Amino acid sequence: MDTVIHTLCWYLHCLALEKPCLPLLGDRGGWLTAERTESFVEAGAGLLYASGLRPGTLVALPAGHTVDTVLALLCLQRIGAVAVLTDPREEPEQALAACAPPLSVPFYLEAGGDVQRPVLLLSQAGQRAPLQLPLVSSGYTPVPAYDDPDAPAFYIFTSGSCGKRKAVVLSQGNLVSNLLDSAPLGGYSEDDIALGALPMDHVFGLALLTGAIVLRHRLYLTAATAPEELVQIVAREKITRMNGVPSLYLAMAKKARAGEVRTLRTGYIGGAPWTEEQFQRIESVLGMTLVPVYGMSECVGISCACHRSPQAVRMAGVGPFYPAGRGRILREDGTQAGPGEEGEVCVSSPMRMLGYHDPALTAQAIDRDGFLHTGDLGYVDESGILHLTGRKKDIIIRNGVNLSPRRIEEALLSQPGVREAAVVGLPDDVCGELPWAAVVYVGNGLSHVVEGLSACLPRNELPEGIMYMDALPMTGSGKPDKQAVKELIRQWWRA
Ligand code: AMP
Repeated sequence: MDTVIHTLCWYLHCLALEKPCLPLLGDRGGWLTAERTESFVEAGAGLLYASGLRPGTLVALPAGHTVDTVLALLCLQRIGAVAVLTDPREEPEQALAACAPPLSVPFYLEAGGDVQRPVLLLSQAGQRAPLQLPLVSSGYTPVPAYDDPDAPAFYIFTSGSCGKRKAVVLSQGNLVSNLLDSAPLGGYSEDDIALGALPMDHVFGLALLTGAIVLRHRLYLTAATAPEELVQIVAREKITRMNGVPSLYLAMAKKARAGEVRTLRTGYIGGAPWTEEQFQRIESVLGMTLVPVYGMSECVGISCACHRSPQAVRMAGVGPFYPAGRGRILREDGTQAGPGEEGEVCVSSPMRMLGYHDPALTAQAIDRDGFLHTGDLGYVDESGILHLTGRKKDIIIRNGVNLSPRRIEEALLSQPGVREAAVVGLPDDVCGELPWAAVVYVGNGLSHVVEGLSACLPRNELPEGIMYMDALPMTGSGKPDKQAVKELIRQWWRA
């Protein structure tokens, strides 16, 4: 039987009715209960509606991880307007222009004020002074009911680490299905306090916010990004769960003093690969159970491992496909690969995006059977666990032979002293492309790394050069930015 999916504000309404006093959204200024959150959202939606916003109106919103941003986001969802979520570190106009094709939107929204007195700042494209809309918790103008979970609701942008940024169109139903599907595996409880420290213009951060409402737990939001500060917040606010990319957990594990983090119970890890040693280190230092997940802007969640599985199972792969999803591993010729055989990961699922803003790009990514071709390479083992082996677009073709950067990165990470590694292909007149590496290294000279690599990789996989860096350049969501790595290696080599 199909699960009935509702809009986010319907879940918020039910929560406010059933548990009005449940603290839902918090920051340093205190907590908003479910009832007060709903009142602010109703008030804000009324003000935005009176200002001309309607179902389907595109509204750019810099997506900081703050309570007022969450309220702004929910106000837009309450009306049925589409939140075009941009990285708060750049001007929204810049993000819209960097998208292929460039996007134009009629309204710009910003959130301000604090947790007790939130304010929305609304302007029309080209207008300088925004309209100030203070939210009130009573006496607001009612807004017509909105109940379409399948309509476009969010635009988020791909990181562009492998090319131009694309605008991905998600519905509220995409996020809600993901949450309902993952709930039995994720081990949520009403006493959970989640850390909201991820950018909300990324699916991982967005899923955390919507999860608080649909799965009913508290969300503590912070604009902090420094790992030592996040460790302090976890200890002070008694945080029990979080979502993060490996680099975030590793940075926190590096800063945490023995016994400092006591309450962190579990957390999803995904977005980029990890090694088994890193996985074990994070779990033991932060005293938590990591639950691997695999997802992407174009498909909120694809896989999940149960947090009750033994560590050996959890760290080895990214788990089975979610129950509501259908996954296929396809060979180059489009036929289905067998167990253990590598191919492209393709998924058809209620969490799959409605499409890209550009229909031509959608037609390239989603096939006639409705399967999204993820561009990721992997295989499914005999027990149904998905293992990712690399990305199609990252493949380096040397003298006509496909080389996997991920394999070379894993070999680098297995060398003593190598903390982080990114391998990219750079053009070469003779070979077509050659692998180059960038590493964060804390050992006694890179010559040891080169020796170690020569012992475990065939000659054609050895990097042409290894550049030492203090830190790898990262995307806004905390993954190695391969375009930036390529550029830095080019400059280094020229110099
Ligand atoms: P984004 O659209 O920024 O969320 O990036 C999605 C990409 O991140 C996927 O296509 C994968 O290449 C990568 N990714 C996501 N989850 C994992 C994971 N658990 N392990 C390795 N790579 C991942």
